[in-house]
Amino acid sequence: MARRKKVYEGKAKILYEGPEPGTLIQYFKDDATAFNAQKVEVIEGKGVLNNRLSEFFMQGLNDIGVPTHFIRRINMREQLIRQVEMIPLEVVVRNIAAGSLSKRLGIDEGTALPRPIVEFYYKDDKLGDPLVAEEHIIAFGWATQQDLDDIVALALRVNDFLSGVMIGVGIRLVDFKIEVGRIWDNDYQRIVVADEISPDSCRLWDIKTGQKLDKDVFRRDLGSLAEAYSEVARRLGVLPSVAPAVTKPTLIN
Ligand code: UDP
Repeated sequence: MARRKKVYEGKAKILYEGPEPGTLIQYFKDDATAFNAQKVEVIEGKGVLNNRLSEFFMQGLNDIGVPTHFIRRINMREQLIRQVEMIPLEVVVRNIAAGSLSKRLGIDEGTALPRPIVEFYYKDDKLGDPLVAEEHIIAFGWATQQDLDDIVALALRVNDFLSGVMIGVGIRLVDFKIEVGRIWDNDYQRIVVADEISPDSCRLWDIKTGQKLDKDVFRRDLGSLAEAYSEVARRLGVLPSVAPAVTKPTLIN
């Protein structure tokens, strides 16, 4: 059997050449890593869940006109995506203080922020993805001011969409990370959401109990990561909870 050409292998995903020029196949692995890959584990089923959840979020964004690289899911672990020119930044949006923001600025985890905060980290494993300012990004040519304006607008739209979807299933979107890339339509450039959107790159807290349903479960040894991700998938209706029960519709009040 002819083997596909691997284009790139990262910590959680592999990219293969796609069936047509300008496309790639994104394969979701079961590997979980944290602390710049100092903690590594295989979590059975994580890749399947993230493939499905990322499809759900990216398709939702496409549907409301927020451009993403996502074309369609192919199977349990793979999706077809548009090839983009990656911008070497991690774009973090925060609604509630947690993680590195709490540590850096001494703000208690769980403190609601007065407005969403957008931060940029320079993608470089050797440097541990340092926080950078727009000044650095422009001076070093990683993106232009116009790109950054587009990226902030895009990130805030993603935040509104994801926050709304999650609140609908009783989950608070504390913060999340996206990666973005450029797509060229002739001479016209567009910034699109790339990579993945999944509980690997979000902080998700149950509204009632505060229970963590994201990668902090793995980072902080809080229990089963697969169970936490399955709970998110179940609530969003992308994973059947149990065989659909035959119930008679009843009106409450
Ligand atoms: N994040 C991520 N990849 C990274 C770093 C952060 O997906 O390499 C996500 C993380 O899951 C969280 C948000 O970005 O939802 C903000 O992370 P933070 O800066 O607080 O860093 P952390 O505490 O995760 O090291």
